[in-house]
Amino acid sequence: MSTSPAVAPPGELRGACHCGLVRVTLPETAAGVVLCHCADCQKLHGGAFALFAADRAAARWEGEEHIRWYASSAANERSFCARCGSRLAKRPVEGSRIMVSAGLFDLTLHRQAIKNLWVEQKPAWTEAPRVGPISPQDFVALALAEPIQSDVAQYGYAMRAASGNLRPPGVIALTWITAADAAERERIRAHSRQNVEDFLAEPGFISIVTGFTGLRGFTVTAWEDEAAMRRALGSHHAQAMKELLGERFVASVWTSVWSPTRINRLWQRCVSCGALEDMSDDHRDCTRCHAPMPERPAFW
Ligand SMILES: [Zn+2]
Ligand SMILES: [Zn+2]
Ligand SMILES: [Zn+2]
Repeated sequence: MSTSPAVAPPGELRGACHCGLVRVTLPETAAGVVLCHCADCQKLHGGAFALFAADRAAARWEGEEHIRWYASSAANERSFCARCGSRLAKRPVEGSRIMVSAGLFDLTLHRQAIKNLWVEQKPAWTEAPRVGPISPQDFVALALAEPIQSDVAQYGYAMRAASGNLRPPGVIALTWITAADAAERERIRAHSRQNVEDFLAEPGFISIVTGFTGLRGFTVTAWEDEAAMRRALGSHHAQAMKELLGERFVASVWTSVWSPTRINRLWQRCVSCGALEDMSDDHRDCTRCHAPMPERPAFW
């Protein structure tokens, strides 16, 4: 008796164990499938093992009373359905991520495998499947599902969206925002995707570097001048601010706008002779060998 997962609500993925007593719901934005060839997975799953990396807080379980946890190592626990024995998930004893068995989602999981783990422990009777290419969405989801912290350093992901505007920045906006939990972080990310689209429509926008480390998001955004920034912030950003001020949304936030004390020269190496050329004024020929210089990078 195999129970297929019920039809998922939009934006969510639903999985179930073999007997259907245990069900799990994950946001559609959860990371792609990783294939683990480690010795523990071979024993515990009786074969090759596909895992789905997710934020522990974002996974909702039903039938939790039927879930049993087993300490598979000092660092990890594994769970299974007490009735049918389906392997459900692996989670580190400490940490915020969970690896949910990809098999629970049947054919509803339209994902490519993006990574092979522990290939050196793979038995000879199986081949490591071809993986990738990893999409920006999968990369982000994976970085968010496995937030790494080491002493004072927190790791995460970053992205840059550039307009191609080569003018020097007149103002830089520097912001950070912390989400109360993973669900809030998804909401913040949805807002910032919309913001970036608005920014790209403004001619005075130069580029943005933005990302998340753990629950903390940040942006470094360059503009030709403050007027350009104000025009771009007019549309969607105003709506986001209304939600932030009118609802219980985000744990803390700081924004600022900076103007330069000094803008230094922009140096680029000549591909022909290797000279480091001052490209601030957009000149096109190398002053040493007179070969044409490649188009210079944006200031930001
Ligand atoms: Zn079951
Ligand atoms: Zn494994
Ligand atoms: Zn040259």
